[in-house]
Amino acid sequence: MIILKDSKKFVVMKLKEKHRDFDVTIVGGGLVGMACALTLSNLGFKINLIEHTENSHNSHPSYDDRTLVVNQASIRFWQNLGIWENLLDDITPIKQVHVSNKGHFGVVKFDASDFEIDELAFIVEAKKLGMSLYQKVIDNQSINLICPAKFLEFNNLDDSIEIKYQFESEEFTDKSTLMIAADGIQSGIRKTLNLPTEVKSYERTAIICNITPELKHNHCAYERLTKEGPTALLPFMNNRCGFVWSVKSSEADEIMSLSDSEFLKRAQTQFGYRLGRFLKVGKRSCYPLYFVKVPQQTSNRVVLMGNAAHGVSPVSAQGLNLAVRDIANLVDVMELAIEKNNDIGSVQVLEKYQQSVDTDQTQTMQYTDDLMEWFKLDEPVINKIRSLGLFSLQQSNVAKMELFKRASGYRGLTPKLLRQS
Ligand SMILES: Cc1cc2nc3c(=O)[nH]c(=O)nc-3n(C[C@H](O)[C@H](O)[C@H](O)COP(=O)(O)OP(=O)(O)OC[C@H]3O[C@@H](n4cnc5c(N)ncnc54)[C@H](O)[C@@H]3O)c2cc1C
Repeated sequence: MIILKDSKKFVVMKLKEKHRDFDVTIVGGGLVGMACALTLSNLGFKINLIEHTENSHNSHPSYDDRTLVVNQASIRFWQNLGIWENLLDDITPIKQVHVSNKGHFGVVKFDASDFEIDELAFIVEAKKLGMSLYQKVIDNQSINLICPAKFLEFNNLDDSIEIKYQFESEEFTDKSTLMIAADGIQSGIRKTLNLPTEVKSYERTAIICNITPELKHNHCAYERLTKEGPTALLPFMNNRCGFVWSVKSSEADEIMSLSDSEFLKRAQTQFGYRLGRFLKVGKRSCYPLYFVKVPQQTSNRVVLMGNAAHGVSPVSAQGLNLAVRDIANLVDVMELAIEKNNDIGSVQVLEKYQQSVDTDQTQTMQYTDDLMEWFKLDEPVINKIRSLGLFSLQQSNVAKMELFKRASGYRGLTPKLLRQS
C-alpha cells in the first residue's frame, strides 16, 4: 500500500489491497473526528479516518470563520493534545463577562480576578483550530486519513464491523473493531441505526459575523438576553468582536440581505452602545437553531460523537466544549478496556462510555435549552423574575463560582485529558 500525504491540499491514498484492518474507523474528519483520531492514536490504536470534504473547501465546517469560545476544560484538553501551543498567536483571552437582560434591570458581571485566574476562557477561529488539528493528523503515522472519501455503509460481523466507502470513484471495504460516527448533525450513520432522536426547532436563526466597534473591547464578552434569544459580542483580535445574533427565522433573510450600514444600525439597536458605535462588519453567515438530543448514542461497535450525538444552539458556546469532554471520557473508557483486555467495540464497553457522559450532556443541553426558551417569554411578571434573578446572582459570589465552574466544563469526575499534566 502506498500512502501519499500532501499537507497543502488533501490526502490521497493509493491502495493496493482493498480490504484492511483497523482498531478504530472514524467517519467524519471535522473538529471532533480529528480530535478523536489524535487522542485514540495516543492509546496505540491504528485509526482509519474517512472525510468527505477537502480541507481547502469553503463548505468544510471545520475551516470556516466562526469564532469558538474555548472553556477551561477544553483549554486543558487542547494543551494535553499538543494543539494549544500552535494556537498561541491566534487566541484572544476573555477576562470579563457581562450579562444583561435587554430592556430591564439586572446585570451580572464575572471577572477572572474574582476566581484568581488570568482569563475566564479564550476565543479561537474554527479554521485555525481545524488547520492545527489537520496538520497533527497528517503528521501522525498511526492515522490513515482518506479524503475526499464518502462513507457508504457498514455491516456488523461477529468480532468487527465492515465499513464501505468510496474514494476516487472506487469502492473499498475495511474492517474495524470500533466505528465512531463523527459525521455531523445530519449523521447518516445515526439515521441508519435508527436511534431515537429528539429534534426541536427554536424557530430562531443565529446570524454570525465580525464587527469592529468604536471603543476597545478590553477582553470583555457581552451576553444580552432578549426575547428573540441571547445575543453575544465576543472579544477578538485587532479589536474585532464576534457577533452572534439570534433572530426570528422568519426575519433572517431580510436581515441577511441588508446593506452593511443598515445591518450595523440594526445590530446596534439590538446590542446598545456599551462599545460605542459599530463601525465595520465582515462577512455574515446564518445557522438555523435546533436542539438535537439522542439519548442512546451507542450501538453494537458504533458510537456517535460530536454533532452526530448532540446539537446545541451556538448561542451557548457549548457544542464543541461538550464534545471535547465526551472524547476525554471515551479515552478513559478505552484505556480501561485495553487494561482489562476487553473488546473495545463491545456493547458493555460502549455502555460504560454512555453512562460516563449522560449527566454532563443532560445538564449542558438543559442549560442551553433554558437559555433559548426562558428568555423568549416576554411577560411583566417573568421579566421581573429574570431581572431579580440576575440581580441576586450578581450579589452572590458562591452562586457565581458555581456557575463559573459549570461553564468551565468541570462537573463530576474529571477525565484524564482534562487534568493538568
Ligand atoms: C456559529 C457557530 C458558533 C459556534 N460556537 C461555538 C463555541 O463558541 N464553542 C463551542 O464549544 N462550540 C461552538 N459551536 C459548535 C461547534 O462548532 C460544533 O460543535 C463542532 O464544530 C462540531 O464538530 P463535528 O466534527 O461534530 O461536526 P462537523 O463539523 O459537522 O463535521 C462533520 C464532518 O463529517 C463529514 N461527513 C459527513 N458525512 C460524511 C460521509 N458520508 N462520509 C465522510 N465524511 C462525512 C463532513 O464533511 C464533516 O467534515 C458553534 C457552532 C456554530 C454553528
